[in-house]
Amino acid sequence: MNGSPPHILRDSFGRIVNNLRISVTDRCNFRCRYCMPEEGMVWMNKRELLTFEEIARLVSLFATLGVTKIRLTGGEPLMRKELYILIEQLHCISGIRDIALTTNGYFLAEQAKVLVRAGLNRINVSMDSLNPQTFSTMVRRDYLHKVWEGLDAVEKLPIRPIKVNVVLIRGINDHEIEEFARLVRTKPFVVRFIEFMPIGSDDGWSMEKVVPTREIIERINAMGDSKLVPVEYHGDQPADRYTFDDGAGEIGFISSVSEPFCSSCNRVRITSDGKLRTCLFSLHETDLKSMLRGGVNDDEIKQTIIDAVWKKEEGHLINRPGFVRPERTMSQIGG
Ligand code: SAM
Ligand code: SF4
Repeated sequence: MNGSPPHILRDSFGRIVNNLRISVTDRCNFRCRYCMPEEGMVWMNKRELLTFEEIARLVSLFATLGVTKIRLTGGEPLMRKELYILIEQLHCISGIRDIALTTNGYFLAEQAKVLVRAGLNRINVSMDSLNPQTFSTMVRRDYLHKVWEGLDAVEKLPIRPIKVNVVLIRGINDHEIEEFARLVRTKPFVVRFIEFMPIGSDDGWSMEKVVPTREIIERINAMGDSKLVPVEYHGDQPADRYTFDDGAGEIGFISSVSEPFCSSCNRVRITSDGKLRTCLFSLHETDLKSMLRGGVNDDEIKQTIIDAVWKKEEGHLINRPGFVRPERTMSQIGG
């Protein structure tokens, strides 16, 4: 980098992008009903996936543009063979200060130690229910015990916070809100309730199935134990982090539907086949893989990234006229 200060990735609305989500595979051993259809998924040919070297090269370029945080996701990222090697490579890139992982937890018990040793800083484990039957209804697999094995393994390691992602679908798992609230009082987990979003073609989404953040907060406060108090405020929007007024436990909210945080969005995504997406709901992608494989030099790739980020969408239009679903499923984009 010959001593010059890094460029900053900025979009035309003044937002600075410093957070990159990378999907390392579109494959998954779960079939969560909000993410992908039960049958008929066609996986990418493995040759289509970016190699670890290609990912590391892109991350180095993004780092010179001010990106400091990386999240590895998928599909199920732990289905990508030897993911720890990629983490080791990313850990060595100057400017990258935080490497996180979002996983369904199935392979975590066997891999957690080596991932943390490789340089993983933070982890999010998806677990939509504490009840085996409801869990199976949500993810169409009978694997709750495997997720718990993974969480137990992570709890023994020096990695905090351990976030537990819970997508709520009204009528299926929303009766467990209170139970999840009790969980964070006894375990070192931050439960994050994620509003169900319309993405892909086969998720049965409707506004009635979304459980808005305000409703969850009211229900937890009505439990009569301790009350939720915000840890972080964003103007007049609901906070996205809360603790209890006796200090025990933390709960987070991703209110993408009821209170979108687009105006402060600092992230972009790379799909497992090397397409840059500037919004989860983008209808347009920038093909970085063909540049990487076509012998294009670093400066040209960086300029392409700068130009694409400049055009980052102002925000999504969920539940408003003009909203168009992206064709890719969440697993194909990298959630
Ligand atoms: N397989 C990993 C997992 O499930 O954690 C990583 C990929 S998954 C696509 C990333 C996150 O997206 C998960 O927490 C999942 O619950 C969330 N997600 C998937 N589809 C969603 C939807 N339609 N609405 C809200 N969140 C969704
Ligand atoms: Fe797989 Fe994650 Fe999608 Fe569930 S949410 S089907 S675990 S990629």
